[in-house]
Order: sequence, then C-alpha cells, then structure tokens
Amino acid sequence: MAWHDRQRSQAIGVFSVTLAACAALLLAGPLRHLAVPPGALAWWMLIPVFAGAELVVVHVQARRESLSVSFAEIPLVIGLVYLGPLGLVGARVLGSALGLLQRRQSGLKLFFNTSMFALEASLAATLYHLARGSAAPSSVRGLVSALATVAVTDLVSAAAVTVVVWLKVGEYDEGVLAEAVTSGLIAALTNTSVGLLVVVLVDTRPAALMLLLAVVATLAVAYRGYSALSRGHADLESLYRFTRRVQREEGTESVAEIVLRQARDVLGAEIAELIVLPDDDDGLHLCLVHEEVRTQPLAVEAWLGPARDGHAVLRRENTDTGGPRDALAAPLEVDGAVVAVLVVYGRPHHLGPFTADDLRLFESLANHASVSLHKSRLVNQLRKEAQAQEYVSLHDALTGLPNRLHALRALRAELATSPNTAVLVLDLEGFTQVNDAFGYATGDHVLREAGRRLCALAPVPGHVARLGNDEFVIFLCDVVGPRDAERRAQEVLGAVGVPFTLNQLTLDVRGRAGLAVAPAHGHDAELLLQRADAAMYAAKRDHVTLRVWDPVTEGDNARRLLLMGHLREAIETGQLEVYYQAKVNPRTGAIHGAEALVRWEHPDHGRVSPEEFIPLAEHAGLVEPLTGQVLDAALTQCALWRATVPDFAMAVNVSARSLLDPALPRQVQAALARAGLPAQALTLEITETAVMTDLDRALVVLHGIDALGVKLSIDDFGTGQSSLAYLKVLPVHEVKVDKSFVLAAASDSNDAAIVRSVINLGHTLGLRVVAEGVEDDQLRRLLASWDCDIVQGYFIGRPLPADEFTVWLTETSRRLRITARPRPVRANFSTNATL
Ligand code: C2E
Ligand code: MG
Ligand code: MG
Repeated sequence: MAWHDRQRSQAIGVFSVTLAACAALLLAGPLRHLAVPPGALAWWMLIPVFAGAELVVVHVQARRESLSVSFAEIPLVIGLVYLGPLGLVGARVLGSALGLLQRRQSGLKLFFNTSMFALEASLAATLYHLARGSAAPSSVRGLVSALATVAVTDLVSAAAVTVVVWLKVGEYDEGVLAEAVTSGLIAALTNTSVGLLVVVLVDTRPAALMLLLAVVATLAVAYRGYSALSRGHADLESLYRFTRRVQREEGTESVAEIVLRQARDVLGAEIAELIVLPDDDDGLHLCLVHEEVRTQPLAVEAWLGPARDGHAVLRRENTDTGGPRDALAAPLEVDGAVVAVLVVYGRPHHLGPFTADDLRLFESLANHASVSLHKSRLVNQLRKEAQAQEYVSLHDALTGLPNRLHALRALRAELATSPNTAVLVLDLEGFTQVNDAFGYATGDHVLREAGRRLCALAPVPGHVARLGNDEFVIFLCDVVGPRDAERRAQEVLGAVGVPFTLNQLTLDVRGRAGLAVAPAHGHDAELLLQRADAAMYAAKRDHVTLRVWDPVTEGDNARRLLLMGHLREAIETGQLEVYYQAKVNPRTGAIHGAEALVRWEHPDHGRVSPEEFIPLAEHAGLVEPLTGQVLDAALTQCALWRATVPDFAMAVNVSARSLLDPALPRQVQAALARAGLPAQALTLEITETAVMTDLDRALVVLHGIDALGVKLSIDDFGTGQSSLAYLKVLPVHEVKVDKSFVLAAASDSNDAAIVRSVINLGHTLGLRVVAEGVEDDQLRRLLASWDCDIVQGYFIGRPLPADEFTVWLTETSRRLRITARPRPVRANFSTNATL
C-alpha cells in the first residue's frame, strides 16, 4: 500500500516517541537506583563537548570510499564513567540537539535524533553499569565493558536510523547498518579508546592529559593539511570523471542531465540547475532535485547576473534579491558568448559552506560542460540536418508525398508481409494542358489535390507516392487476384477523376492507370512498379483508362523504356538525321518543295521509326529540342536548294505538344532568320488530333505562326474525328489527305470518293490540297485529273538524306528544264531511280 507523506511523518513521529519512551522507561526503571559517581564532573560540562562532536566531522578517504567520522563516542565514554544516568542523558540530548540546531536541523528530524540520543545514552548507561558491575572504570573489565557498550549502542542507533529511512522512503536501506558494523564500528571503538584513555589519565595522571591534548592538536593540524590535499586530489578526480562521463553523451538533453548530476555530486550539493539561455529556439531550464530532472519555466534570478555576464559567483548569504543562500553559479561559454548558467546549492551542513576552492573547481567543471554541451548541440544539429536531408531525399517537395525511392522501399516492406498487393501507377491525363494553360500554380494545386485524394483511399501512410511529373502510385493491399485489383483500381480512378475546382475554375483532369498485381505479375517491388508503369503507358497509348499489365506486350514496353533512355543522348549528340521527301505538281511534275522527316539510326536497334520515337520524345519532354534541330537543318537545306528551285518550299512536322507551346512562333521566326529565308518558304504540318486536344490554346499558337507568314498544313487529314467545317476557324493554308485513303484510291471507290471530296471541299475553302502516299503513276494521274495541287509519295521519290536529295533535285530540275513544254507529263515521272 502506498503511504502518503503525512502518514510517513506520523509513523516517524510515533517511532521517535517510542524511542523517547524507552529511554524514559530505562531511566525510571533499572537506572533509577544507580548512584552518581562521586565528585568528578558536572553534567552540563559535557554539553559543549557533545555539541562540538556533532559539528566536527572528519572526512577520511579510504580506498575509493569517503568516510565521515564523528567523535560523539568520546564524551559518551567520559559521561558513562563520571556522570549519573540522568546527567549523561541530559548532556547527550542537550549537547547534541544544540549541535544539530547549529546545523539547521529542525522539525521531525531533530525530534527523532534527540529521541534516539536519549535512548542511546540511557541504553549505554544501563549496559555499561550492568557489564562493569563494581569493577574500576580503568580495570580491564571496565575497559571491555565500555567498548562493548559503545559497540552495542551504535548498532541500536544504526537500526533505529534504518527503520526511519524505511518509514521515510518505503525502502530498506542496508547501507546504514552495514557501515555500523564495518567502518563505523572501527571509528566507534577508536573513539571509545580515546575516551577511555582520558579516563585512565584522569584516574592516574591528570597532568598527562596535556600530552593527549598536544597529540590531538597535532592530529588536527595534520588533518587539515591532509584534507586540503585529498580534497584537491578528489576534485581533480571528480573533474576527470565528469569530463569522461559527459563526453560519452551526445544528445543535448542527456548531456545536460549528466552535467547536472555530476555538478551536484562533485560539489556535494543537493540541487543543481542548468539555465540554457534562449538563443533562437531552445531556452531551457533544467533543475535536478534528488534524482529527478525537472524542466522549469525559464526565469533567471537577479543574483545570477554576473554569471550571465561571464563571471562565476560564490554566494554565501541570502540578500534581498532572493535565490538560495550558499550557492555557486558559473557561466557556460561557447565562442566567448554565455550560452547557459550552471548553478548548485543546498549543501549539507557537515560539508561546510562553499569555499573559493569550490568555486574554482566549479568553474573548471562549467568549462568542460560548455564544451560538451556545445559539441552535443552540434551533433544534434547535424543529426537534425541528416534527418531533414533523408526526408528530402525520400519525399516529393510539392505534395509532401513519398517519392519513387521511398515508394520502392515501402512496396518491398509491404510485399514481405502481404504478398497479395497490387501496384497502380496513375498518370493525370490533361495535366500538361492545365499546367500550360493556367500556369504552374494551378498545376501544383491539381497535383496536391490528386495526392490528397489518393491518400484518402490508402489506409496506410506511405502507400501513395508521386513518381514524378504527373505520375502517382498507390498500393492496393490484400487484393484477391487481378479482378479484385481491377475493381479497386476503377474506384481509385473514379475518385481521382472527379473534376478539380480552383477559384471558380473546373478542371477536368482524369487518370489513366496501369496495374500490376503480385504475385501474378511478379514478386519484386521494382519489377511490379515497372510493369504497372508499362501498363499505364499502354493505357495512354490505347486511349483507355486502365490497363492491367500483359506479358504479351512486355517486349514493347521494355524497348520503349530503353529507347526513351537513349533518345535524350541521341538528340544531344546529333544522332538524329533529317531526310527529305519531294512534293511536286501532279500534272507538270514541277518541284514544289520537300517534307523534312526525321530519322534515328539506333546503334543497336537500327532504324527507329519516327512514329515510335516522336511519342517518346513527347513523353520525355524532348520535343522542343527535336523540333528545333529539324527546323534548323531543313531551313538550311531549303536555302541551299532555292539556288536550284527559287520557290523551293520546306514542310516540317510539328508535334501535338509543340502546338501548345506559346514559344513556338518565336522559335520558328528565329530559325527562319538564321537561315535567311522568307516565312513563305516554310510550311508547318500539324495533325488535326493535335489541334483538337486543346483548340483554344492551339489557336493562339497557330495565329502566331500565321502572323509570321508561315503556312500551316493539316497533315493526315481524314484520320481524326473532325470535319472539314472546323478548318474554317483555323488559319490553315493546306490539307494533306492521309495516305490511308490515297494509297487505295485507284482501286477502292470509297477511298476515291473521300479523296475527291476532300480535294473539292479544300478548294472551296481556298486551301491547297496535297495527297501523300502516291506510290504509282496511275494514282498520280488520277490525282492530277481530280485537280489535286501537290503529290508526295514513293513514286515521286522516297525520303532521302540531304546530299542524295540534292542530286535528285539537280537532276529532276535539269530534266524539267530540258523537257519543258510541250512534252507529255508522263515523261516527267519516267524514272523510279529513287525507289
Ligand atoms: P507524315 O508527316 O504523314 O509523313 C509521311 C509519312 O509517310 C512518312 O513516314 C513517309 O516516309 C511516309 N510515306 C511517304 N510516302 C509514302 C508512300 O508512298 N507510301 C507509304 N506507305 N508511306 C509513305 P515517316 O517518315 O515514317 O514518318 C512518320 C510520321 O512521323 C510522319 O508522318 C510525321 O507525323 C512524323 N514525323 C516525321 N518526322 C517528324 C519530325 O521531324 N517531327 C515531328 N513532330 N514528326 C515527324
Ligand atoms: Mg507530315
Ligand atoms: Mg502524313
């Protein structure tokens, strides 16, 4: 049962009263009839001796133990011999009580001690007289009786103290009794021997007492010297231990605690405080009372002023400024600035007040403490920085979500415990347009909101990550096969697809996702993520919202990833080449110009089709440099070929992404300027799907290009969902009927009808019509008869490298000149040399 403090005090009070009652019983019982020894000593004469014995305590260093020895047994033995029991008890109680009062003991403690002294003295008197009987005090029996009495009474007092400690703290402390039977017993017997020596000398040669006094005086002087020396030694050792102990710690808090504990112990104080002065953020006031470290409100008392200014303070008396009496304060400095103040106070009386030596020791201790505290602060700082850096390296700064690296680690951990986990990689379809149209702030909002929506669907933190740009991943745990995973993936897509709103804007950004399910699609975190990513790419390519990873398409995806990795390097190192395909008049064969078509000869994979790598360039954000390179190369050639064919026109393809880039008109203008060409020399080919992705934004760019005087051509016309009607709103000058209609136009009446209607409608709208995919002369003639303006195809010429095209151009233009009118048109196309 736990005792309250009051109950403990009451128990100690009752115990003390019991001790006093026992003493009274002994005095009233066995001691009542004892005669007072004749003559010798008045009882009050021993009062100052007992008082002095309580005050003078000698500290002896024995091995690693520090022993405190008092001399109370000396007057006790003298009193046993020369006083009656009542006189002895009176002198012992009064004298010792005075001594204790001088040591500022009071209350229950004083009451217990005096009760115990009373019992000790009365018990000693009883035992001594019982043991000695009628023998003389200085007889052998007398001497042995005194020694035995003191030994027994000391044990009884040690037992009483043990009981009180137990009542006070609720724990049995074996230390007091152990000391009483070891070093305490030796000290007691030594004291008793001195007391007995006094008795023998008084009995036999009182004059010789002077000799004894001389010996005691010499011993006292020697002790002073010894204690100063051993104190210095002990101080050094304490300081050394302090430094070692403190250096082992690293955290500021634990270093502070060690500093407090060590400072308190080394200086023999009861309380130590560390006041860390506030710098940026960490003002701290720690106070060590008993074994408990408390944090106190930061209040710096006035008497600590000098310490704050860098001077150690030894405070003896309490003044008006408050604070403890008998205290030490020392500054802890770092780089000449005081960062904290260390304070100790509450020194037990027997250790005496703090001295100038203590202050010096305390100062050195504070110096060491400041070094350690500073070091620990630095270590803490480094640790915090390292943690922050680790956080940064594992998280996405914009959304605060884990990044790819973190996601991989989390997935690995998840797979270890839950093998049925699905990985859903999600791409925000239309995000790029939002970013381009409404600015990065809006784009950021969409990304953050998408992250939040995903997190709301993932019960475990860390199961949603941003992989980069507009790609996220979410782990779906405990799925029951791919079907269940697919159902849950659709739920995720549904939640992400809810339109985003911001400042009255409603943004329709939907997710396209790829799914890989463990264990069916792999066990490895990296592989699953890669497969989900590949499936997502397939979903984008096929314009569906979700694709589950399919082993059949794996090869394609691996190649795609590989090519994407090499494409950047290819662009940077000029591995891309531009080929040129001729465009001519179908009736006269007159050279209109050429279309620039990019080529990539991959060192391992051979020729890679632009239809394969242009989407990759778009995905990797490489289209802009690619278009720039093609434009420059094509316009340079165009300028050269204009020497042969003065109106030579160059057509360059522009991808869907470039069409939404407001910088495109400027890029084109600069390229024209570099080549020294008029804007009319250039036609940009755009596809209708690219225009329709974001008509409003595309229009801005198209008008910018139109304003330059550059012509615009709608490529692959007929393959998109749009009709010719919308061409009215676009600043276009040309349509290119897609080769899929042209190729079979000679044999397929449907295709023929389409081609003819496009030509007619185009002309109605004032547009030039180009037919691509002209592979034979029959088709060429057909197109000529349908009034097609320009033809392009293998029959006219295949796409050729610049130098070969130069040869073709020179020869063809020469032949055209020689065979100029009125030769049949057919003759112009007689050569198939370029096939
Ligand atoms: P496109 O602009 O429609 O180019 C015409 C494509 O048809 C070219 O394929 C050309 O080689 C091919 N072709 C030409 N004549 C015939 C023919 O008689 N029969 C057949 N079957 N095909 C013919 P290529 O060079 O593989 O280019 C494919 C597409 O890649 C181009 O279609 C264009 O959209 C894109 N592209 C090519 N170069 C670039 C470029 O520099 N930038 C951009 N953004 N796209 C490019
Ligand atoms: Mg084209
Ligand atoms: Mg085309």
